[in-house]
Amino acid sequence: MYYLQQDKAKMLSRIKTAFAADAEMKQDPSLHRRLIMTAAILIVTTLTFASFAFINFEPNSYLLSIVNLIISISTALALYSLIVKKSFYFASYFVTALLFTFLVIFSYFAGNESFGLIWTVCYPLFVIPILGLRKGMIMVVLFYSVIIPMAYLGIGEWDYGFWDIKGFVRFTIATLAVVYTTCFFEVSANSAYKTIQEIREKEKVHLIALEKLSVTDQLTGLSNRRYFDDHLAIERKRAKRHNKTLSLIMIDIDHFKNVNDAHGHQVGDSVLREFARLLQDNVRDTDIISRWGGEEFIVLLPSTSSESAISVAKKIQSAVNSHCFSGAGKLTASFGVSNVDPNSNSNRESVNKADQALYQAKNQGRNSVVVYENMQMTDADLQKAD
Ligand code: GH3
Ligand code: MG
Ligand code: MG
Repeated sequence: MYYLQQDKAKMLSRIKTAFAADAEMKQDPSLHRRLIMTAAILIVTTLTFASFAFINFEPNSYLLSIVNLIISISTALALYSLIVKKSFYFASYFVTALLFTFLVIFSYFAGNESFGLIWTVCYPLFVIPILGLRKGMIMVVLFYSVIIPMAYLGIGEWDYGFWDIKGFVRFTIATLAVVYTTCFFEVSANSAYKTIQEIREKEKVHLIALEKLSVTDQLTGLSNRRYFDDHLAIERKRAKRHNKTLSLIMIDIDHFKNVNDAHGHQVGDSVLREFARLLQDNVRDTDIISRWGGEEFIVLLPSTSSESAISVAKKIQSAVNSHCFSGAGKLTASFGVSNVDPNSNSNRESVNKADQALYQAKNQGRNSVVVYENMQMTDADLQKAD
């Protein structure tokens, strides 16, 4: 019993997915066109049959009027389910079946009076764009395998005996021409949509590449200042919301100018790349490392106190000290650490603090880690001493 209920639930959800093509529709422009076409046909049929119901509402054609009214109400309901419930497949199959039934019955009873058979061209014209080429053609072949034999059998009978073989051949040729033209339009529209889709996909790929390029430092592959600024602002807000600490480390390679002067710019560039790899190897994946400019780097450490940031800075320092840079040998770097105030309104204030600490590290002889908050303490101490 339980399994039965589960199967029923699965089945219901499958039916729902099959009938609700909304998400699919947004992805696929040709499906969107089919939706519009179905809605347009449903609107026309609803209004046409409502007016027929009104026109035929007289004593000798009450029955016809009621039939017209029923058709009009059913198409209105299908339209409702299409627009409100987004049941595209239900509406499209409904309109296909309705047109099929109506046109066959109409052609049979009208017997081509006043060339009523002309209305049958509506079928390929509407059904191919609604169901798509393959399903549409299956329905069209089915439809004409009823209509054509019926029209053939009507020769000499229909239209008070005026429906002859010549008329039948003309009708068949015209039908083939209409089916061929509709198929041709459908194929060319589909290939146009496919091309548009391909262009969109290519544009998307280019846009992603361009976006990545705009936030990447070309030399080191690290993120650039722009990316850093955006993420510092985001992380400040996040730290404020979750009441977390956030730290910065500003890093500058010591006497880098000498590397360029002694070994050339190319070695300088490769040192910068190696330095970037060292940074990446010594911080967490969630930390953001950016090239601030020249031989200066900045690391943003979310959910990190300045004490932990000092440990990270020291870890990087010893990694730099023990590394031998290809073509340049041993190098050192200076570090400025600061805590980011989540309540501050600008990035500048936080970065300035780390920058001041770095300046202090340079002043005290380089290859050292200075914490901005400790520098403040030193100032206070100095005041105390005064
Ligand atoms: P300090 O210890 O005070 O930081 O001294 P420094 O020599 O490292 O600093 P300075 O600001 O005097 O020189 C930085 C040098 O970095 C100067 C510049 O030519 C070089 N530089 C900046 N960007 C690049 C780059 O992309 N590639 C190379 N090879 N060198 C660069
Ligand atoms: Mg330097
Ligand atoms: Mg510098």
